[in-house]
Amino acid sequence: MIEKGGYIRDIFQKPVGTSVTAYGWVKTRRDSKGVHFIQLNDGSCFQDLQIVIDAGTLPEDVLSQATTGACLRVGGELVESPGAGQSVELKAREMHVYGPADPQTYPLQKKGHTMEFLREIAHLRTRSNTFGAVFRVRNALSFAIHKFFQERGFLYLNAPIITTSDAEGAGAMFGVTTLDLMNLPRTETGEIDYDRDFFGKKAGLTVSGQLEAEIFALAFSNVYTFGPTFRAENSNTPRHLAEFWMIEPEMAFYDLEDNRKLAEEFLKYIIAYVLDTCAADLELFNKRIDNTVLSTLVHVAGSDFEHVTYTEAIAILEKAGRAWEFPVHWGVDLQSEHERYLTEETFKKPVVVTDYPREIKAFYMRLNDDEKTVRAMDVLAPRIGEIIGGSQREERYDVLLNKIRAQGLPEEAYWWYLELRKYGTAPHAGFGLGLERMLMYVTGMKNIRDVIPSHPWLRRVLNRRKPHPMRALL
Ligand code: ATP
Ligand code: MN
Repeated sequence: MIEKGGYIRDIFQKPVGTSVTAYGWVKTRRDSKGVHFIQLNDGSCFQDLQIVIDAGTLPEDVLSQATTGACLRVGGELVESPGAGQSVELKAREMHVYGPADPQTYPLQKKGHTMEFLREIAHLRTRSNTFGAVFRVRNALSFAIHKFFQERGFLYLNAPIITTSDAEGAGAMFGVTTLDLMNLPRTETGEIDYDRDFFGKKAGLTVSGQLEAEIFALAFSNVYTFGPTFRAENSNTPRHLAEFWMIEPEMAFYDLEDNRKLAEEFLKYIIAYVLDTCAADLELFNKRIDNTVLSTLVHVAGSDFEHVTYTEAIAILEKAGRAWEFPVHWGVDLQSEHERYLTEETFKKPVVVTDYPREIKAFYMRLNDDEKTVRAMDVLAPRIGEIIGGSQREERYDVLLNKIRAQGLPEEAYWWYLELRKYGTAPHAGFGLGLERMLMYVTGMKNIRDVIPSHPWLRRVLNRRKPHPMRALL
């Protein structure tokens, strides 16, 4: 009876001479005279387990099926590895092939594939080195995010995904309806009659859990959400998705300064965690994707973030002497080119920009005494631009009501949001981090579509004859 070895990651920790069983998929196979070598990977770590098979040990019909892509169980004994890069290898005594993979048609070959090609085989790319690393780092980041907040006593909350508060202002919503689209009920004035819809109201997928997080912060003090978010914006950029995951902490009794410090501590913590636990995966990104990834992460984890006000940032940009694609003057929103200039040229590290003009920021941000700016903050990072957006919230009932009216928002839709200010209001602040943006930053991956478990059915969209709006998203 062969002892079950568990994950390949754990097999590497066992001493020479141990009998183990390994399970996994064949990365590559090499045959030389009298001996066969198989690189086996089960996704538990970057390193493949080398299987050594002396000719004649295994039945020919089994061995012939153990080609790239096949799924195997291999039993045998751990022996010292003469090869570089691994301590032990597995000398096979027994092998079972769960699923062969025809080498003539198996699409993942040893040669480097383009990201575009791999996107088309999203159901198999998870077995490649790069995507193995992406999803292990994604897992580690997610765990580090929970760990950070849990260690600080924050309450984890799941904000609703379907919502009827459609004026959150963060982006266009995907609608959710059970109405018959071929036969829409109309009101007397010809509009769609949402009274007859499932929720009796126009509903959609959430663009942010912030407003719900505020409810919870004003009862549990420190809370965070971590869940899916949807934006039907024209997201044909390498940094925007229609569906992404967002982390939104919200803290009572925090002002903008506290918020900024927490965001910095948080980013450094999760970066340090990944540096600590995913060294081999990060090496791969550094070697294959972007040779500045490791040095940037070490630098960011150990340096103090810069802080400038929006007004100071505009002054820097005006003095830059550049021909901006989007001209700069006080009042404009910062574009990617401006954000990158500040982080990459001026400060060469993450920069927190605070106190933006009220006109370009959401109604719920706290108005400063100058009545021109609000207590907003964006955390900008080299290579990628905005990674976190946040603010101190307007906790004063009258000021909030005035802002809702001034922006022409439907006052009645915010009755509950206003009541939070009427009954036991408190200063509070929070921010939002996009998980995939963070993952791009940590891995150096250039396209946000390469850090998500993209859907195999998108391939069919690609092959349609008529241009499809989703095509651009691939
Ligand atoms: P951007 O200006 O980059 O579109 P935003 O101002 O719309 O961002 P917020 O509404 O502040 O972003 O959302 C908070 C965070 O969520 C952003 O800093 C970013 O990390 C992430 N994020 C926003 N929109 C998307 C998207 N479409 N795809 C992936 N991540 C996103
Ligand atoms: Mn946006």
